[in-house]
Amino acid sequence: MSNFKYQNQELACDQIPLRELAEAFGTPTFVYSGAAIETAYQRLTTAFQGLNTLICYAVKANANLSVLKRLHELGAGFDIVSGGELARVLRAGADPRKIVFSGVGKQDHEIEAALEAGIHCFNIESDAELDRIASIATTTGHIAPISLRVNPDVDPETHPYISTGLNTAKFGVPMAEAEAFYRKAASLTGIEILGIDCHIGSQITSITPYLAAIDKMFTLIDRLMLSGISIKHFDLGGGMGVRYENEPEFPLGALRAALEQRLNDRNLQLVIEPGRYLVANAGVLLTKVIHTKANHEKKFAVVDAAMNDLLRPALYGAVQEVLAVQEPMETGAHTIDVVGPICETGDFLAKDCSLDLKADDLIAICSAGAYGMSMSSNYNTRGRAAEVLVEGGQARLVRTRESVETQLALEIEHLDKPSTTEH
Ligand SMILES: *Cc1c(COP(=O)(O)O)cnc(C)c1O
Repeated sequence: MSNFKYQNQELACDQIPLRELAEAFGTPTFVYSGAAIETAYQRLTTAFQGLNTLICYAVKANANLSVLKRLHELGAGFDIVSGGELARVLRAGADPRKIVFSGVGKQDHEIEAALEAGIHCFNIESDAELDRIASIATTTGHIAPISLRVNPDVDPETHPYISTGLNTAKFGVPMAEAEAFYRKAASLTGIEILGIDCHIGSQITSITPYLAAIDKMFTLIDRLMLSGISIKHFDLGGGMGVRYENEPEFPLGALRAALEQRLNDRNLQLVIEPGRYLVANAGVLLTKVIHTKANHEKKFAVVDAAMNDLLRPALYGAVQEVLAVQEPMETGAHTIDVVGPICETGDFLAKDCSLDLKADDLIAICSAGAYGMSMSSNYNTRGRAAEVLVEGGQARLVRTRESVETQLALEIEHLDKPSTTEH
């Protein structure tokens, strides 16, 4: 979180005090550091320098158009999982030839749009999807470049909801079925075999599961190549972990070392799909204390952000650091839970924080740049938060705070209409 530091006893994002941003844009607001995104991106490009690498940022981590534009300008491609994300990255200026399309349930209209755009590759997750894409490509006069997502059956040692590479997960196809899949793909019109891919999970902090997956994947690649199937790229997926509390720095050097010789010997391009790694620590959720209350032993700070803004604590039991915007004079003052106003016991943002908080105090929930805004909802008819991007010493609103009117509009138009089944 080195882009968020205290200066003159105030927490700042790249020298801009968060208090000023709260005054200018209100709360709750996600604040992103463009410089932090750039630093994380450069760390990846430096680590993989000299390898033929395509970095496809996983849009679902943070899909704000200005964030996507920034990443595009840095040279990133994109990993998308829906037609909506395709529209976003194209609007942000993405080069279609740097887009890969992942996901277990691509629909016809999404496949058509991706073929029309001329994306780099479809990451296919089932036999049924291969048939669907081949058929749409043939009828629309396109050739669909494809890769098969295989499931290397390794345990990424992370939260069960974000473990995706086990045989029990819905993702990918078992390795044993890969050869038959590619044989069939080679026989279909409208299909061009391009690569192979996997994605074993998210917030992975150890190199061990990656090494296990890489070993299995290259054994498979060699078997496929021996049987005459031409594979041009290896897509390792995303999942590189970040520091929320005291996790180790992700071992990029060891990952490069494990890949380098294998890729070069086989003349393969490397594709990676990092999401969290590029944006998590580039953002905070800035929120204000409405009031505090105590129930028996427990003290709560009720803030104006909630689980609809930041779902990770409720969904995964995730722990994200909380910092007071006004630097505390002493620490360990009180043990307090930071909770939102939503009618759910699961609506907490942080537990047992050593902070001395009172009404109107501002706090920053750290590491909120990934899977924060992108997982937000309108639960309790709460408008989504504003988003602000700090770049070159300037703070810029990059998403307007959602109003109640915007939320109601889609329903008001139907309120007093007679019932009908016509569209
Ligand atoms: C979610 C996802 C990613 C990104 O995961 P991170 O942990 O954010 O890096 C990459 N590829 C696929 C297929 C995904 O589903």
